[in-house]
Parts: sequence; structure tokens; C-alpha cells
Amino acid sequence: MKNLKKLSEFAAPSGFERKLGEYLSEEFKRTKSVKSVYRDRIGNIYAEIPGKSKRKMIVAAHMDEIGLMVNYISDKGFIKFITIGGIVADILPNTLVRILGEKKEILGVIGVNPPHAASSGKKEIKDLFIDTGLTKEKIEKAGIGLGTPIVFETSFSNNDNVYIGKAFDDRIGCAVLLHIAQEIKKVPDYTILLVASVQEEVGTRGAQVVSLSNEADCAVIFEGTFAMDYPGNSPDDWTSYFGGGPAFTLMDGTMVSDRGFIKEIENIAQNRKIKYQYKQPRNAGGTDAGKLHLSKNGMPCAVIAAPCRYIHSSYSLLNKHDYESMKKLGVVICEDMKSEIIEKIF
Ligand SMILES: [Zn+2]
Repeated sequence: MKNLKKLSEFAAPSGFERKLGEYLSEEFKRTKSVKSVYRDRIGNIYAEIPGKSKRKMIVAAHMDEIGLMVNYISDKGFIKFITIGGIVADILPNTLVRILGEKKEILGVIGVNPPHAASSGKKEIKDLFIDTGLTKEKIEKAGIGLGTPIVFETSFSNNDNVYIGKAFDDRIGCAVLLHIAQEIKKVPDYTILLVASVQEEVGTRGAQVVSLSNEADCAVIFEGTFAMDYPGNSPDDWTSYFGGGPAFTLMDGTMVSDRGFIKEIENIAQNRKIKYQYKQPRNAGGTDAGKLHLSKNGMPCAVIAAPCRYIHSSYSLLNKHDYESMKKLGVVICEDMKSEIIEKIF
């Protein structure tokens, strides 16, 4: 839980992952399993765990979260913004946000009318503004100007079997990478390349760099995905559900999964008695796997995601059992995946 709280509360929207990358690098270096850590020029972090063979398996998660970016400051100090990644306007009114000024971070509230005034109707992003209560001069003194990133100000909490926090998409995946580095016991058959990628939420841009610069035999991507098992949705539209274990992607908007590879991972999960579910196939959405599976000669990818309710908003819910199962699955996939599997499948 310590890892997840720390990771969830990190402010790292797409393009601004540097501090989180440095933190993860330090944590990777602290482990016994990781032999080298490096960063590429877009900001992706790589940590290598040597295996028995030269065969390589990438295990990836993205560091970035969705956010906002300042695109106008009025004379009175009201801040207008654009979105970084997929955010709908409906979830924003009256949200507490943290503006990441170069000199100082400042909190603000996205303004709304009180019920006493006439409703201003449905809003679009361009109609919304952040109110810090400060003058334009004070805001600029904090190093806030055009292009300053903004994140949701959300504290992590713990509700019996549920975690509540922000950016579970994909700090859960980052937590899995750390857990693998910290907990792996056996020398794996594959050399494992842990990759914490950047800029997934704005179009899997970090993953594109990974795919152009790395040759690996296969990849497993750990994610947070959406679970819609709540009022208003029938089970035929849940996508994934709480308590069912990590969800395996069969098809999304950017990849048709290799079933042979998925089958191998299912075998590992079954042998280790780890519960899992299939994510309902969708024609939309995508992950870093969309870029990674197209690299070099093709790289079979499996996407495994913990079901989260209300992702891409300021508060998400995550079931603890699903989270624990996914972390365990991360370790055993690295430990149990046989290097000859790739020949067997292809
Ligand atoms: Zn994600």
C-alpha cells in the first residue's frame, strides 16, 4: 500500500514525468534484482533484471496521468486551461486542483455558480476556469504561466477492502513494476526489461520510442482499466468488474491480442492459483501495447489491467484483492515464463 499511496499522489501528467522517473529509478537501484537502470531522451525509464537466457521480455507500465494545462490567465487571475489526455468537462466543476508552478505549487478550485443563481447549463472545457483567489501578479510570481501543468489534488485513502485515489491508471502498473523488482525470487528465464513509459495518455508516445529502440521477444503491459459494475450499467456493458481479478485484454482499439501468448499467461495464473478475468472486447481505447506489438519483427503483447471505477477523474476506486492479485501475477509471470514459449507459439 505504501508504494501505491506514494505513486498515486505523485504529480506527473504527460510530458512532466521527470520527478516520478527519478523516484522510480532510485527505487529500482535499491533492489537486489535490478542490475542497470537508464533513461532515454523522451524520459522512459528502463530497469534490467538479468535472466538465464538472452531472450528478453519487456514488462511495461506508464508513469503519466491525465491533467490540465494553463492556456490563459485573465487580468483578475482566473486561469483557463486545456486538457492533457482524456478528460470530460462533466467531471471538472468544483474540483480541487494543484497548479505546478515552477517556483511554487498553488491550489485552485474550478469555479461553479451556487444554486441561488440561475444554472449556467452544461459546460464545455473552454467555459471552465480555475479560481485560486490570488491576483494575476501573485500567480505569475509562483512561476505559473502558459503551459504550466495542473493535476487533481487528491489524497489517497483506504476503505477496508478498497483504495481511493487518483491516477490509478497507471500508477498501479508502476507499483507492479516496483513489486517485481523488489520481490522476484528466482532468476528468470528471460532477461526482464522493466519499462516505465511516458506520455501514454496523449497517444502512447513514450511507447513508440521504446518500440523503435528495443528488440524484445514479448511484452506484458500492466494497466489500470475501467470497471463499470455500478448503477446505470447492465453486466453486458461492465467491461470489467471489481473482485474478478486482473483483466486480460483480448482486443481494444489498437491491438488484437495474440491468443497463444495470452494462453501461456493464463496457464501461469492457473498454476499459481491467481484469479483473473477477461476484459470485454472493445473497438475503442488502447494502451502502450498498441505501439509495442508493432515493433521490429512484431512483439506479442499481453495487457493485464486492474479494474478501477471512475478512471480519468479526480477519484478512482480500486479493489485491494484485484491489486494484490495483479502484483503477484507480475512476479510469477517473470519467474515462470519459459524462454522456449516464443518458439512454441510462433
Ligand atoms: Zn493507462
